[in-house]
Amino acid sequence: MEGMNFHVMTLFPEMIEQGLSTSILGRAMERGLISLDAVNIRDYSLDKHRRVDDYPYGGGAGMVMTADPVVRCYRAIEAKIAGIGRKRPRVIYLTPQGRTFTQSMAQELAQEEELVFLCGHYEGIDERAVEMIVTDQVSIGDYVLTGGELPVMVMIDVISRLVPGVLNNQESPEFETFHDNLLEYPQYTRPEVYEGRRVPEVLLSGHHAKIEEWRRMQSILRTDAARPDLMERAVLSKKEQRFYREYRQARETEEEASAIQEGDSKSKNE
Ligand code: SAM
Repeated sequence: MEGMNFHVMTLFPEMIEQGLSTSILGRAMERGLISLDAVNIRDYSLDKHRRVDDYPYGGGAGMVMTADPVVRCYRAIEAKIAGIGRKRPRVIYLTPQGRTFTQSMAQELAQEEELVFLCGHYEGIDERAVEMIVTDQVSIGDYVLTGGELPVMVMIDVISRLVPGVLNNQESPEFETFHDNLLEYPQYTRPEVYEGRRVPEVLLSGHHAKIEEWRRMQSILRTDAARPDLMERAVLSKKEQRFYREYRQARETEEEASAIQEGDSKSKNE
């Protein structure tokens, strides 16, 4: 089909289907913008008890997913994709040992037509299967989950939002957090006053240029406070650079003044 096709190799296909079939992604699937093909690796086990795991060679805790069902499952998906005339897909193994997933990685992956994901479970997957079929190893962060199912849902959610048509125009991802390496400005909706807290006046002014300027400045202040690492790579106009320089200088002066004050009151108390 047209659009983006996601294929997920997993031991728990129902978890993926249920997790991704509601709200925006559910609608995108109904409209044929994306499709989800969750394939049960167990269906490709030749073992009479449909086993997919075994003890690790060399000993150690836990079980390891065997190579054969994974490779056979992949080959079935590869044949399906070749059948509709599309090129060999990227195969992404979800693993805490992979490159950390980011918005820019999602943007790059959203250009593909077919993506295949491999979810591990237990202690992971026999390395030979990984060597044979995987093109990319991706982690969603520096922590260890029990399986690749939640991570793949995170990746598919993020990538799908970037597929043209999935978000309607008003929900454009263009001005969101991470655009220009800035965090998004604060958002408000009705009522104008909530428990004594007013919506910032500028947002009620109807003055689009002023609102835009206020939002960019808020983004800069937020990013500076919460993610100074992003701020170093932020894309700012000349005017914004000046605003940020002046803001930093004012902050430094304030910090120096309060350090002097603190020093004074300490020496008085001594
Ligand atoms: N023994 C493996 C290790 O130390 O690298 C961890 C295995 S983990 C318990 C089981 C599966 O969960 C992995 O094969 C992977 O598919 C998935 N997983 C766990 N943490 C993840 C993360 N941070 N990002 C992506 N996938 C993860």
